[in-house]
Amino acid sequence: MKSVTLNAPAKVNYLLDVLRKRADGYHDLRMIMQRIALSDQIEITLLDNPGIYVTSDKGGVPDGPGNIAWRAAEAILSCSGREAGVRIRIVKKIPVAAGLGGGSSDAATVLIGLNELLGLGFSDEKLMQLGVKLGADVPFFIFKRAALAEGIGERLSPVDRLPAVWMVLVNPNVHVSTASVYQNLRLTKREDTYKMPTFSGNVDQLCAILSNDLESVTTERFPVIREIKSELLSLGARGVLMSGSGPTVFAVFADEGAARYCFDTVSKVSGWSSFLTRTI
Ligand code: ATP
Repeated sequence: MKSVTLNAPAKVNYLLDVLRKRADGYHDLRMIMQRIALSDQIEITLLDNPGIYVTSDKGGVPDGPGNIAWRAAEAILSCSGREAGVRIRIVKKIPVAAGLGGGSSDAATVLIGLNELLGLGFSDEKLMQLGVKLGADVPFFIFKRAALAEGIGERLSPVDRLPAVWMVLVNPNVHVSTASVYQNLRLTKREDTYKMPTFSGNVDQLCAILSNDLESVTTERFPVIREIKSELLSLGARGVLMSGSGPTVFAVFADEGAARYCFDTVSKVSGWSSFLTRTI
């Protein structure tokens, strides 16, 4: 049986500006997004008989059609007109509903993997068109590089010369619904004169742009985010920010030693889950 196992990496948002609410209920955003090494594993196997079967090793992640990976398989099979049988096993390493884009990355990886396994020959553009219907962050994971994402997240352009950095992620083990964060967001009219910096690979320059409009909304509900940020800064982080709609906070380090020292300390705090990782 033909089979492939792929990594589905998480992302962090270095910048997340919410620009306006659109007539269709979505928000126009401006995001700078970066993939990190922390990844789920996706095993995709072609079966002899038609049908899509998705399982995950983690409670709280739906099996079957409730899983975004199932919907990704369904979307690419129906677009190709093929009646293949597909089994997908997900080993979940990325915390769920955590602002790290785990479900979106799983979906993107299924699109990429099935395109390959079935020899469909769809372009990345075509996969992104299928992906954005599944979730606004899916195209980014097909793009496969650091990006400026605009619109609802589907308009992507590369961001060059961001520094490679180490990160410590801390998740306080509460689940945050992205929809509820947007519902509680009070949009202020803003001057939209943003100019993308030209990055030079400098860590301080990266840390100077860290900003997330959703952070205050999620922090109001979960003040522990403020506590995590100050703990990470006191352990030597060069910059800290909540990712996406949260609650995961990432801390930026220029070198592995400093990141590892922070990780060793913060991972002892009970009730928090910590991860040592790096940009890819
Ligand atoms: P985003 O920032 O894009 O909202 P997130 O990282 O905060 O993403 P996910 O981990 O993608 O959130 O999970 C969001 C919801 O989707 C969860 O409630 C979960 O039950 C559901 N879900 C469906 N499929 C998956 C999957 N493959 N992995 C994780 N969650 C999934």
